[in-house]
Amino acid sequence: MADLDGVRTDLERFNEEIEREQYEHLSGQKEDIDTESIYARYSRIFEDEGLIMDVRNRRATARGEERVRMEYLYGFLLGGYAGRKITRVDDRLHMMQAKAEIEVDGKKVSFHSVPAMLANEPDHGKRETIDLAREPVFDGLNPLFRERLDISYAVAEQFGYDDYISMCSDLKGIDYYALREQMQNFLYRTDRLYTRYFRNMCKNVLDLSLSDVRKFDIGYLFRVKEFDRFFAADRMMGVMGGTLEGMGLQLSDQPNIKVDAEIREKKRPRAFCSGIRVPDEVVLCIRPQGGMDDYRALFHEMGHAQHFGNVSPSIPFEYRYLGDVGLSETYAFLFEHLTGNKYWLSQQFEMTDEELFDVGQFGAFKLLFMVRRYAAKLLYELDLHGGEADPEKLYARHLGDALKFRHPESEYLYDLDMGLYCADYLRAWMFETQLRGVLSEEFGSEWWNARGAGEYLRGLWGTGQKFTCDSMARNLGFYGIDEHPLIKEIEKRLRY
Ligand SMILES: [Zn+2]
Repeated sequence: MADLDGVRTDLERFNEEIEREQYEHLSGQKEDIDTESIYARYSRIFEDEGLIMDVRNRRATARGEERVRMEYLYGFLLGGYAGRKITRVDDRLHMMQAKAEIEVDGKKVSFHSVPAMLANEPDHGKRETIDLAREPVFDGLNPLFRERLDISYAVAEQFGYDDYISMCSDLKGIDYYALREQMQNFLYRTDRLYTRYFRNMCKNVLDLSLSDVRKFDIGYLFRVKEFDRFFAADRMMGVMGGTLEGMGLQLSDQPNIKVDAEIREKKRPRAFCSGIRVPDEVVLCIRPQGGMDDYRALFHEMGHAQHFGNVSPSIPFEYRYLGDVGLSETYAFLFEHLTGNKYWLSQQFEMTDEELFDVGQFGAFKLLFMVRRYAAKLLYELDLHGGEADPEKLYARHLGDALKFRHPESEYLYDLDMGLYCADYLRAWMFETQLRGVLSEEFGSEWWNARGAGEYLRGLWGTGQKFTCDSMARNLGFYGIDEHPLIKEIEKRLRY
């Protein structure tokens, strides 16, 4: 039998190295990314089928906390084994995308800058030209995406699973088919509200009728430049600090949470959080640009940072690093939610009642859009991994049905996160609404102004990811993760 304490120590070191590599690459301090050689250094863990089977066997007989720890460890080891198999193709995909260029109006621009270009281009025809120019990039990437998928499917088969879905289900303890039913209910219940609101926005913002809207228009639709004047870049950190202080959480008292706001040319524009050593070294990386989306991203990542940074250092490795990622996403959404909350907004910015209403309603619509998009992704990904024929067409159909505009078949693998990550987000959106309900009941509707709320959250964060979203929901007095509070809230906020 393997020495599991040694394995845990190694895994903690591995996590540190991989997180640091990603952080240094994405923050623009290191041009290349080389996860391949980090995985190779830990091959004794990630290439050892015997170790994985040993933990799987122990999981079968363990009880209580020991069982939970074995479950998380098994999930991480098998996930890492699958991850090890795809590092080479993954690194190539990263590199190809980072180096890819497209030609627009005779000028070369990077593939990575296309979403920002599309979001800032007011002309539908020009957006179409830009989008068409990147088709060859997708054609070049798709065989590698396909290869990555096939490798992952082979791992599922090797470990005796019926398919990739049942492997993910066993690793994460999620019943994807039950979740699909909840999401079908969500899509059905919000369909009319979404269609009405979306049609109006397309007419008002894009000057397009529903049938003319394409995926490349959506960035511009959500860009809403007119809100930028409130969300100034130079106020971002101040607003963040003030909000945390309201909850009794001072960044100055949290030296383990480092904020990297330095300007570097190659720094990724979008905020991200790296839990390099949980809870001792957590980095929140940002490149403040201002605008509603940038604020939203900063608050989201601060939710992760507060979670990781407040994990109790004495709890076992499994609870600090492994477990249900949906729980960390829940805390991230909790913070992100504030940026669309009209009471919070009125506290931070000089806005008229009408402006507050508009920004608040826009935030609610964006949430509805995102949940419907991820619900459709879940439906599609379950079909894809289930081996249904013509996945390109299924992608276009599921996403098109839910969002009411056409999706290009060529993006069917580009618009896909491995490990059914869409499900983690969906669970987090539902559970966040439930958790926020508890905070409002305990500390008032402006819970972020109550020091008690910070205390309360710190208590939850201290347990790391020991509990899954489901067990946390039960701890808070719910039957489980429920889509109805989310539906109710969106209906309420979009009523007019
Ligand atoms: Zn997140």
